[in-house]
Amino acid sequence: MYTRILRFAPSPNGHLHLGHAYSALLNDDMARERGGRLLLRIEDIDTQRCRLEYEAAIYEDLRWLGIAWEQPVRRQSEHFADYAAAIAKLEAQNLLYPSFESRSEISALVAERDRQGHWPRDPDGVPLYPGRARKMPAAEGARRRRAGEPFALRLAMDAALTRAGVLTWRETGSGPQGQTGLVTATPQRWGDVVLARKELPTSYHLSVVIDDALQGVTDVVRGQDLFWATAVHRLLQALLGLPEPVYHHHRLIFDAEGRKLSKATQATSLRALRAAGLRAADIRRMVGLGR
Ligand code: GLU
Repeated sequence: MYTRILRFAPSPNGHLHLGHAYSALLNDDMARERGGRLLLRIEDIDTQRCRLEYEAAIYEDLRWLGIAWEQPVRRQSEHFADYAAAIAKLEAQNLLYPSFESRSEISALVAERDRQGHWPRDPDGVPLYPGRARKMPAAEGARRRRAGEPFALRLAMDAALTRAGVLTWRETGSGPQGQTGLVTATPQRWGDVVLARKELPTSYHLSVVIDDALQGVTDVVRGQDLFWATAVHRLLQALLGLPEPVYHHHRLIFDAEGRKLSKATQATSLRALRAAGLRAADIRRMVGLGR
């Protein structure tokens, strides 16, 4: 029996709230139950929105919760070379293409497609890529990139699906509709996802998959809001020859009005609760992990 490796992977773009506490505590509990290891990863590729003060606050809040993680912490911003290597591998398989439309050009194209009938949205509600850059001759794309035009590198989903075949994953938690056990991945619902941009040469999907593999993560325990994204992760794992972790998507914590918690709502931030005199045991109880 090999050692299970779990990870908690917050983004330092705000303070942790009760939803993060639940995820971190559940990871910690599951690692302990299984005699496994718990890693911490700071997902800070978005250097515009991530801040060192939030990262410091994450360490402080997790320590206060009584969570212990292994050192060193992996900070994604220190590993752009790993993501670039993965992009190069996908490019070598002819599975990426650059698109050059601005956000407003994309919105206009979507509006036009919607007028002709409803244009599909991805599981997060974002319209699929409506442009035709996939048809652009490779030489033209390369020339425009060399000329310094802003671009997004997209996965050619049809070609990727043909390459990878049917994919599944093992789910030990559950999806939004109770999916559990062996789940069939449907990455096509995301269309030609962006895997890197000129100004940010990676993406959440790419970095998470590379890091889970490089860190030897065996069990990904995270919120149900990322259930559908797992299909893209499985596809990237297949294309890049990476191992397949077991996934456990957990319920989300909602506020009193039934809304998903957000980093913008101060009331449920762990620091506000701590300042109000609550203790780690109270937080456990509040998220339903009472002991
Ligand atoms: N960084 C992501 C977040 O804070 C979590 C990524 C993951 O667990 O896969 O929502």
